Amino acid sequence: MTDQSKKVKKDPIDNSKYSLDTHLIYGKNISKKWDYSYHVTAPISSSTTFRLDSVERGAQGFQEFGHLESELSDNPHIYIYDRLGEPNKDMLEENLADVEGGEMAVTFASGMGAISGVLGVLLKSGDEIITHKTLYGCTISLFNNWYPKFNINVLADDLTKLNNFEAKLNENVRVIYFETPANPNLDIIDIPALRVIVDKINKNRSEERKIKIVVDNTFATPYCQRPLTLGADFVVHSLTKGIGGFGADMGGVVIGPNIYRAMLLLYRKDFGGVLNTKSAWAILTYGLPSLALRQRQQIATAMKVAEFLENHPKVEFVNYPGLKSYKYYELAKKLMIDFDGKFAPGSMIFFALKGNDPEEGRENGRKLMNYIAENAYTMTLAVSLGHTRTLIEHPASMTHSVVPADKLIDRGINPGGVRLAIGIETADDIILDLKESLEKI
Ligand SMILES: *Cc1c(COP(=O)(O)O)cnc(C)c1O
Repeated sequence: MTDQSKKVKKDPIDNSKYSLDTHLIYGKNISKKWDYSYHVTAPISSSTTFRLDSVERGAQGFQEFGHLESELSDNPHIYIYDRLGEPNKDMLEENLADVEGGEMAVTFASGMGAISGVLGVLLKSGDEIITHKTLYGCTISLFNNWYPKFNINVLADDLTKLNNFEAKLNENVRVIYFETPANPNLDIIDIPALRVIVDKINKNRSEERKIKIVVDNTFATPYCQRPLTLGADFVVHSLTKGIGGFGADMGGVVIGPNIYRAMLLLYRKDFGGVLNTKSAWAILTYGLPSLALRQRQQIATAMKVAEFLENHPKVEFVNYPGLKSYKYYELAKKLMIDFDGKFAPGSMIFFALKGNDPEEGRENGRKLMNYIAENAYTMTLAVSLGHTRTLIEHPASMTHSVVPADKLIDRGINPGGVRLAIGIETADDIILDLKESLEKI
């Protein structure tokens, strides 16, 4: 509700005048979801229920819930109950949509909540989904443990090789789902090339049977890559990671076309995976405004650490999109671009140690991580990523333990591979700890 006597600050008419860096700090300057134009920092709302002036207004609120026309109209929004929507989540959603270049966003309690949400809305029994073979472990678990129950067929393919891909897009395929860079091996998938193939198939399909491209952009964050601008239909994030940025809150988001907002809100209302209001506030207040600052520091450090590892005699290989030696370097340079158009290869590194055979290489990786767990100051043995602290982990036995040992190679995961998620420490300090640890093992 806007008090006419107040001088309402408008969103700049021409947003393109300002850099996205600055835009992350000011965000969508004014929201019709909640007038807080005299607050410099957004206030916290933590009311699960909302006062309604009359039964009629209550009825109108329920009627308008999730309807595109009421979302887009200038009428004040009627809030009812947290699970349907409330100001902190709504403001965060407006800003997340903005930074990814999407029309709308719907938040969820976690990244897995967001992935289940978008796929729950797009798929039904009998449909098929094609995924990249290398995926976050719990996403593989979702597909292996639950989708057979729903009669949804999942084909794990190598999406780094798109020749002959068209032939795999049978009538039942409705979604292509992948991460780029992929967790944990940093495979890069050519989103624009995939878009061309999917458009060709979609030309002959009715609207509701068109294939949708869904990209998990958690590893890159919108600072390094905006998949919707490259040809994806939907983006999902774990807000727990780089966007949240401090390892203090869990969250997830789906970003995509306006026409899907109603279905996503309905899904969230009925399945119940709502983002906590205080977490929404924290991500809006701390995560987004500091995203560019943190990412720039992490990328600069990741580059130095990757170069150090690449030149170390005990290291077998280093996957980092910023290394010229990386097999997807040229493709990464096209897709991973910061707000100023500069190459932004991200904060994640995957590497393995040498051994006389794969078993010895794996054993050396285990020794290194255990040495670091006990002795390093700047690296912590822990899952998760996009934190202020550098985190190191062993995907085969931790984040991807759902993959059986004999299937790791098929899934693109080197059994001895080490995942390094760079934080905001000084690069030289991380290198100091790595150097000492590599010497000692
Ligand atoms: C962590 C992660 C998820 C899941 O996010 P949660 O917030 O932990 O549910 C999904 N995808 C990727 C790539 C991740 O790293």
